[in-house]
Amino acid sequence: RSSLRVGLIPADGIGKEVIPAAKQALEAVSADLPKLEFYDLIAGWECFTRTGVALPEETIETLKDGCDAALFGAVSSPSRKVVGYSSPIVQMRKQLDLYANIRPVRASNVDMIVVRENTECLYIKQETLVVGEHGKEARATRLITEHASRRIGQMAFELALSRPRKQVTIIHKSNVLSVTDGLFRETVRGVPKLAGVNGRYDGVTIAEQIVDSAVYRLFREPEIYDVMVAPNLYGDIISDAAAALVGSLGLVPSVNAGDSFVMGEPVHGSAPDIEGKGIANPLASIRSAALMLRHLGYAGPADRIDNAVDAVVREGQVMTPDLGGKNSTNDVVAEVLKRV
Ligand code: NAD
Ligand code: MN
Repeated sequence: RSSLRVGLIPADGIGKEVIPAAKQALEAVSADLPKLEFYDLIAGWECFTRTGVALPEETIETLKDGCDAALFGAVSSPSRKVVGYSSPIVQMRKQLDLYANIRPVRASNVDMIVVRENTECLYIKQETLVVGEHGKEARATRLITEHASRRIGQMAFELALSRPRKQVTIIHKSNVLSVTDGLFRETVRGVPKLAGVNGRYDGVTIAEQIVDSAVYRLFREPEIYDVMVAPNLYGDIISDAAAALVGSLGLVPSVNAGDSFVMGEPVHGSAPDIEGKGIANPLASIRSAALMLRHLGYAGPADRIDNAVDAVVREGQVMTPDLGGKNSTNDVVAEVLKRV
């Protein structure tokens, strides 16, 4: 790469306050990166109310043809159903084939990554409602394919390789759903034996856990987990539950990743209750930028950002109100930049 082209999509609410912080963190490590180019792009609820579309054609085209990666802030979703509106984040995941949602969770006794399949399972939204003999009957189709299970499995094994414990835990419920979850489990288990893998994952330990007991153990002994890989619905629930172990939503990063694009995104939403006050915690977004770099193969600059954030959190001197402090977003950004 001669340049690294990053789309910036702050979208709504505090997204507009935290994405500039993430941009500054990237600029702070630019000496160790290809030439950084930023593209300011619009999407979200405010964009919808202004232009009639939540994800303008120009935004998606710029991402597809002009960018290597992106940082997304947060969207506000309308509380009622609005005709013509659909979440831009869901649309981007589809259009850019971001099939994995990756969420590292770290706290004093926790160091795990939840790898969630992002394209199928119950979220294909094939639901029907009929009126039967005894009233309404709702049905949903759950899709699990070998293809999607294999690529999410491979993503999990790749991530495990870069970690000290090198353990992948497969989350499923194949004791009950033997066909769908059975396929997921068998396919992920089979990843190390795929043609072309050639022993690459020999050092990775495979564990598995039924989803309900996985959640129980997540709260009782979160330290047992390293990389957790799950179908879409279980992954959604587990990754939010895991985020709760950290303390503030303002600290938890994520990326949506495919084979040719990666999009960093803080886990939190647009936080309308603190919007415009200048007190949003920027650390989740800054960590999302680091995670984006790590995924692109720039581990060095990613480490420098992560270490700076970790130091600021550990010292606990400069903190936004969500962590019990009295400081502003800008104060925290300045502390991080000093340490990068
Ligand atoms: P939220 O994450 O926006 O806020 C939950 C609580 O956490 C609020 O009290 C908020 O002030 C606080 N918080 C969140 N991020 C923070 C930060 N960086 N610093 C300090 N405090 C922070 O969730 P919500 O209130 O349920 O939803 C608000 C809006 O965001 C809704 O419209 C919702 O649909 C949307 N949302 C979007 C995403 C996304 O874009 N991925 C995720 C969740 C919610
Ligand atoms: Mn969720």
